[in-house]
Amino acid sequence: MKSELTRTLSKVEGFENPKISLEQYLTPPEMAADILHTAYMNQDLEGRKVADFGTGTGILAIGAALLGAEVKAFDKDSDALENAERNAEKLGVRQEIEFAEGDVEKVNESFDTVVMNPPFSVHSDSGIAFLRKAVSCSNAVYTVSHPGSREVIKDFVENSNHVITALEEYRISLPSTYGFHTEEGRETEVDVIITQKG
Ligand code: SAH
Repeated sequence: MKSELTRTLSKVEGFENPKISLEQYLTPPEMAADILHTAYMNQDLEGRKVADFGTGTGILAIGAALLGAEVKAFDKDSDALENAERNAEKLGVRQEIEFAEGDVEKVNESFDTVVMNPPFSVHSDSGIAFLRKAVSCSNAVYTVSHPGSREVIKDFVENSNHVITALEEYRISLPSTYGFHTEEGRETEVDVIITQKG
């Protein structure tokens, strides 16, 4: 099931003109499939109300919908949302996803599960704003972050109503649009963290 999901998610089109300031890059299909497969096995997707914060290309929202979730996908960039909607259409789950334009900080409803690959540079607060919103409005969060922010994130979650139940390390390559002009792309390490209401 996971490799089939990876194959399907590989059909998602990336950002046409990625906006560096919004940290727009496509979650690698294999990592997206891994995260979603775990969420599915934990019964956090099928028949659940799921949010994707900073949906970007829509890859996590689309994968969640393919695994039976009712999805609401947020992004503050209308160009990204248009592309995400096209991707959802292409993969046959346009009806299963509600797309909403706006800042995730303004989200004002609750979900069973949040999946997200938010902006996580130091400039963007290491993803803490997204995480604060996610833990306050859901029972389970699946998120991607930078290992350099691990302690900050652990501290934050310890003082929230969630607990960290898993942390996996991944190596992914970021596109050369991220300032690494001398190479095709650059390998970087990321953490995938799961939190649950404690
Ligand atoms: N999961 C996406 C990751 C996209 S990158 C994918 O794999 O395609 C992060 C996304 O967060 C970008 O699309 C960016 O536009 C969006 N974003 C950044 N800050 C935001 C904010 N405050 N509110 C909503 N979306 C935001």
